[in-house]
Amino acid sequence: MRIQFLGTGDAFCSGGRFQTCFQVIADNFNFLIDCGATSLLAMKAGDMASDLIDGIIISHFHGDHFGGLPYLLIDANYQAKRTRPMLIAGPPGVEKSVQNLLSVLYPTVKIAELSFEVIFKQFNSDNTIEFGPLAIETYPVIHVEEALPHGIRVLFKDQCLAFSGDTGWTDNLYQIASNADLFICECNYFKTVSTSHLNYPTIVSNLNKLNCKRIILNHLGPEMLDNMNSVNLECSYDGLTIDI
Ligand SMILES: [Zn+2]
Repeated sequence: MRIQFLGTGDAFCSGGRFQTCFQVIADNFNFLIDCGATSLLAMKAGDMASDLIDGIIISHFHGDHFGGLPYLLIDANYQAKRTRPMLIAGPPGVEKSVQNLLSVLYPTVKIAELSFEVIFKQFNSDNTIEFGPLAIETYPVIHVEEALPHGIRVLFKDQCLAFSGDTGWTDNLYQIASNADLFICECNYFKTVSTSHLNYPTIVSNLNKLNCKRIILNHLGPEMLDNMNSVNLECSYDGLTIDI
């Protein structure tokens, strides 16, 4: 898999970073993990063809993680004149949440009336769903409960890409990171203690139990950006590409 970090910032675009969005290419299958409000801009600024996206996986219902979907959908409909289906996976109620968001921004646009079919896949209690050629494992994490926050593992062939989503500390992170070729872990804070986001010391103190091959910190808030010289773990940045 090739992972292109299109957006690595927090909700506030701290440091001028785009909101969370990773484009992943798994052989011929091209998908996004999260689609923050800035994602279409990030794609076009990076000269990426937005219509190459086959699907989008949403970790939770916050604007910096799924607020870009309406723009992606209208771009596909009106600009690319897409006809092939698009997959969207997310927490329970994903179809209604995406339609509601779209209806607020573009009241006359209905997903059912787009030029292409949108196939929704909902995370379920089995914790595993099929998504094109991928399997996605989902785990509840600790963030604003109403946003239905999840960490995910994307399994493709013998590879695993893991993502914490937005979360405070939860032991589920051990399972999410387990044996992952790459674990993208949110690290919003350098030292502020929060129940809804992680800080750097918490990640460092759990490092020996996070059994992944490589960890990269993401969703960096102003505190993290101000202390990058004191951070000894790899950090993401917009435009970074990693092959696993
Ligand atoms: Zn966020």
